[in-house]
Order: sequence, then C-alpha cells, then structure tokens
Amino acid sequence: MIKNLPVRSLVHKGLTIEGYSRAAVQSYWRIPELKLAFDLGGSPWSFMGTQTVFVSHGHLDHMAAIPVFVARRRMMKMEPPTIYVPAEVVENVQRVLHAWQRLDRGRMVCNLIGVKHGDEVELSRENVVTAFATKHTVPSVGYVVWDRRRKLKPELQGLPGDQIRDRRLAGEEVTDEVRVPIVCYVGTVPSTGKRRSTSSVTRTSTTSWSGPTSSRTS
Ligand SMILES: [Zn+2]
Repeated sequence: MIKNLPVRSLVHKGLTIEGYSRAAVQSYWRIPELKLAFDLGGSPWSFMGTQTVFVSHGHLDHMAAIPVFVARRRMMKMEPPTIYVPAEVVENVQRVLHAWQRLDRGRMVCNLIGVKHGDEVELSRENVVTAFATKHTVPSVGYVVWDRRRKLKPELQGLPGDQIRDRRLAGEEVTDEVRVPIVCYVGTVPSTGKRRSTSSVTRTSTTSWSGPTSSRTS
C-alpha cells in the first residue's frame, strides 16, 4: 500500500476510526466497518476503496482532495464515489471538478449530493446517516450515523412466538424501528478566539474523543 499521507487509527467498540486532522492543514477520516469517510482534506491511498464520503464544509483543509479522490478511483477503474457536501456548496464543487477535468483531461465522475439540516441518507438496511446544522464561518453540516433495528412492539412482548408469527403473516406490523446513534462527526465547531475550530469524531455511547490525534482543524 502506498503511504502518501499520515493515517492514525483507533479501534473503539467494534469500529475503526482512522485518518488524520491538523489545523488548517488537512482532515480526513474513515470508518471501514461502515464503509464511509468524513472529509477529504487529503486522500490517503488506503482510503481509495471507500466509496461514500460525507464532507462537513468547503474549507480547503476539508475538501481540497476531492478531485484527487475522484480521479484516482476512476484511474483504478472503481465505481464513481458518492460525495455528500453542504447543499450551499454543491455548485462550486461541481465547477472545481469541471475545471480540473479540463486541466487533467480526465473525466471527473462522481455523485455529488447536497445535504442540509435534517436530511437523511440510507447507507444500508442497518445504517442511516442524518445531517445536522453546525456553526462555522462557511456553510457546514455535521453527521450522525445510526444503527437501526427492528424491535418487537412493546404490546406484543411476552406473547408466544407462534401468535406473533400469525399476526405477522396476517399483515400486522409487529415491530418498531429502533435507532441508536453510533458515530457523530462534527467536522467543525464555532470559533473561539484564535483557534478557529476543532474537528471531532465521536463514537457515541460512553466515550468521546477529538480524533485519535487530538488535532485541530479549521
Ligand atoms: Zn473550517
């Protein structure tokens, strides 16, 4: 594997959080188990196989590597990636990709999707991602990854299995969807004095951290 950028790694409660973040330099994270990444301030070679990326905002240290990532996946004959960005910046990101298409003479193929507060993205049967508004000097969003499961409705709990099965076969909805937040990516936080912001990846539950490097981003 080509090592072109620093990657730190931390495993917590079954999820691997890997990437790097440094103030005004670059932020990029991914969680292989969830097949998603957050931000593309850099594009480590090892991240190339992660097709879905959620970008928090348009500052260069969070987004500069989008053309590299898109072009590299095409060069390696991989499916076009899906990249979510704040809705306000979609058009400009598209412009950048078009400009780079002319510079590089290679097609920039990706699904670029704008998201805003409250939007929901279905990753798989088990996981959904929701976007929420964050406060920064440019349009920005954070993301929560949810685990979702079907749980037997409370009023049916304790009933014999064959009765539940009969109700289900008769067309009755016997379960409720239960969601548990498993990861939160803020990407940025409001400015406080000189330090413009920090980035944090949080494995929600009992523990949180500001990325494995305790680094700062802008
Ligand atoms: Zn920023």
